[in-house]
Amino acid sequence: MATGIASTRNDRAVTVRELLASGKQSFSFEFAAPKTDKGERTLWNAVRRIEAVRPTFVSVTYGAGGSSREGTVRATERIATDTTLTPVAHLTAVDHSVAELRNVIGQYADAGIRNMLAVRGDPPGDPTGEWVAHPQGVSYAADLVRLIKESGDFCVGVAAFPERHPRSTDWDSDIRHFVDKCRAGADYAITQMFFHVDDYLRLRDRVAAAGCTTPIIPEIMPVTNARQIQRFAELSGATFPPELADRVLAVEDDRAAVRSIGIEYATDMCERLQSEGIPGLHFITLNHSTATLEIYQNLGLHRRS
Ligand code: FAD
Repeated sequence: MATGIASTRNDRAVTVRELLASGKQSFSFEFAAPKTDKGERTLWNAVRRIEAVRPTFVSVTYGAGGSSREGTVRATERIATDTTLTPVAHLTAVDHSVAELRNVIGQYADAGIRNMLAVRGDPPGDPTGEWVAHPQGVSYAADLVRLIKESGDFCVGVAAFPERHPRSTDWDSDIRHFVDKCRAGADYAITQMFFHVDDYLRLRDRVAAAGCTTPIIPEIMPVTNARQIQRFAELSGATFPPELADRVLAVEDDRAAVRSIGIEYATDMCERLQSEGIPGLHFITLNHSTATLEIYQNLGLHRRS
């Protein structure tokens, strides 16, 4: 098992920073860390289908503990070694000492992974509960960014919140702490899911007004299941538009109709975002590729050179 300061096995692995610098809008997907063998099979089915459309990069979330954390490391390593995809490994500070964090970072480096997403994570069990740092750990994502950057030649992304972080009491402190993460070395940010394009645009303006030019990639989650999306919106703090809720709830028992409304809404959001000069689009897949691939087709991205 790798420990300590990381040295990358494949120094030529491309970074998200380099991919974004090409000026072409990126198109990427987020997978969830698998918790079971069945979950792993579902994940790999989605990975293979998404590999076929040659996305700019894919990311794998970091689980809340134990086996799902091992699942994250295993899945991300396998994506790096067995596919043509560029993986981004999420990492959180939850329940980890600095020594443990260095160990995980070392494992990624040994697998040739150069891209990481540094997020603080939420308290396990109740994500809205009190955040308590590990006694030998770090307290904020900015500390995690510094730790990863010190540990090797990594490109690091961070989280951004179009409706501000649920724990932030005001916009000024939220933007100040976001800019701190960027100054700590973050190369780009990916947002929390959101449903109003104007929220993303206002966040981008606020960050720019604070003198920060870090690219912020919007994250999109298409509605495919009425109950699931409401739960996600509750946990993430994203406001679910009442007009969308009304349309979805009116056909709640007709899965195909819910899906079709969700895909149409997400496609419209993406088109508007693309016209606003975003650096790219990042899709939450929940390890099911079909809805996001349909949006990919709707946006004409399959005709990219
Ligand atoms: P931070 O940037 O540390 O901010 C947390 C809060 O502390 C904010 O209110 C901030 O303003 C405040 N703050 C920051 N610095 C200071 C300071 N110096 N003093 C006082 N206050 C401060 N969770 C997972 O468990 N696994 C994942 O893989 C995962 N992936 C995600 C991917 C994306 C794109 C996003 C948007 C979120 C993801 N999350 C994941 C959820 C994330 O862990 C939570 O949203 C978490 O609450 C916030 O993490 P952060 O990195 O923004 O924290």
